[in-house]
Amino acid sequence: MRHNFLSIPRETLPERGVKDRIHDYGEYASRMEDGPIVKQAERCMDCGTPFCHVGDLIGQETIGCPIHNLIPEWNRLVSDQDFFRAYERLMETNNFPEFTGRVCPAPCEGSCTLGISEDPVAIKSIERTIIDRAFEQGWVKPRHVRQRTGYRVAIIGSGPAGLAAADQLNQLGHTVTVLEKADEIGGLLYYGIPNMKLDKGVVRRRVDLLEAEGIRFKTGVNVGEDVTVEALRGEYDAVILATGAQKQRTLGINGDDASGIELAMDYLTASTKQLNGKDLDPRHDAEGKHVIVIGGGDTGADCVATAIRQGAASVTQFGKHPEKGLYRSPERPWPLQPDTLSTDYAYAEAIGQYEADPRTYLIRSNQIVTEGDKVVGIETERMEKIVKPDGHATFFVVEGSEKTYPADLVLVAIGFERPEPELRKLGVESKRDYVTDVDGVFVAGDARRGQSLIVWAIREGREVAEKVDAYLETCQTELKTSS
Ligand SMILES: Cc1cc2nc3c(=O)[nH]c(=O)nc-3n(C[C@H](O)[C@H](O)[C@H](O)COP(=O)(O)OP(=O)(O)OC[C@H]3O[C@@H](n4cnc5c(N)ncnc54)[C@H](O)[C@@H]3O)c2cc1C
Ligand code: SF4
Repeated sequence: MRHNFLSIPRETLPERGVKDRIHDYGEYASRMEDGPIVKQAERCMDCGTPFCHVGDLIGQETIGCPIHNLIPEWNRLVSDQDFFRAYERLMETNNFPEFTGRVCPAPCEGSCTLGISEDPVAIKSIERTIIDRAFEQGWVKPRHVRQRTGYRVAIIGSGPAGLAAADQLNQLGHTVTVLEKADEIGGLLYYGIPNMKLDKGVVRRRVDLLEAEGIRFKTGVNVGEDVTVEALRGEYDAVILATGAQKQRTLGINGDDASGIELAMDYLTASTKQLNGKDLDPRHDAEGKHVIVIGGGDTGADCVATAIRQGAASVTQFGKHPEKGLYRSPERPWPLQPDTLSTDYAYAEAIGQYEADPRTYLIRSNQIVTEGDKVVGIETERMEKIVKPDGHATFFVVEGSEKTYPADLVLVAIGFERPEPELRKLGVESKRDYVTDVDGVFVAGDARRGQSLIVWAIREGREVAEKVDAYLETCQTELKTSS
């Protein structure tokens, strides 16, 4: 590795022009060519104690890569142009780099040592290029399992947590069945994250590989309604609940049941279903409408990008927090994520289309304005945020800041409920680590930690698989001792 961090500037994945890409739902970014990616890998300093792969939490903050990707090692292999070994090294820790290489917010880059004084290494772009290149070269093939243990495991939910657990347990020789209530496998990878960020063919390609390796998938099975967890426990030696945390928070203000108020997940799911040939319900169509997205997070950004593609007349996004700064603040020292203002794909598109950033900060929605039962606007006030010396934040209303925004379609993206009530419906009262109060029933992913990230879901899938494997081994020992 040449450690060329002083002479080579950071570059990330090439993106299609904004004016071009908003007319379709194709991915907006693609892998890098070999020449540029080798140069980006050469920027890695190979620092003695890399933080990029630590993968831990300081409070609620992720430091480095949660699945401990061996980043400096694959950087070295890429800079040596040994793409095959880089691919092998990547697969040691990451079941699905084609997903994280596309949609991970890359906490690894926030903790990159080079980032203390320069732009960090473009880790996510390198990861995506290694795996996309591996698929193109035909290196990614089904890994057939030689010996089966005879143990049967049911996994409820086919998001990244369920898929990672299924992959790990299948490779250990257990017979795995994944039960999914939706009509497609993938959880939020399929219905949630829009196609322009993660093409659904990329999800299906991985599911096909897992199926070829022996994992069974059953769609359209709503566990709790079609079959109970108890019944599954009778049929399988262990059950994993990887059911996510998809229950959305609602606005809870006057008029929020009006026609034209839609939950972001319903809206994004309808858009993906349309790509699969289903008719789009007019209530999920933003064409010609003034759209307001309530919620300043990533789900809100995905709604902005989708509304632009549908031909919205205007799109405004309400955020509750102040605008972020351009530089890392003293409150967010390295190796925390810098959390600076960035112009993500959706915002770049809105600026290209409407010549204005759609984000509005420190806004509180007070009331939905209706005509008949239909939304026509939102009454708002501006807030001020004061952070006390103990770090506690308080919000105050700015006097005289009332404003009514016109709206024909309001998309609510203000976060997700905790998963515990849903788990209780499935018969689980308590959980600790990955184990629940029901013998042989485990829990992982967003269903355990609340709405999070793909990379955390993969880590949870890997870790719950270890717990289940150890549990099955104990069952075997007990069986031998009693016979
Ligand atoms: C719109 C949106 C965009 C996002 N974008 C990103 C991003 O860019 N990057 C990122 O890292 N993270 C992103 N996230 C978060 C990320 O998608 C989740 O943290 C991750 O998918 C959680 O994985 P999971 O496997 O735990 O659950 P999920 O992906 O939610 O999967 C759970 C699955 O369980 C199924 N299920 C639930 N109950 C039952 C039942 N009773 N019977 C059968 N099946 C059931 C569901 O249908 C679902 O398919 C986004 C989230 C949303 C909502
Ligand atoms: S999975 Fe995410 S955190 Fe880990 S190396 Fe890839 S981009 Fe970084």
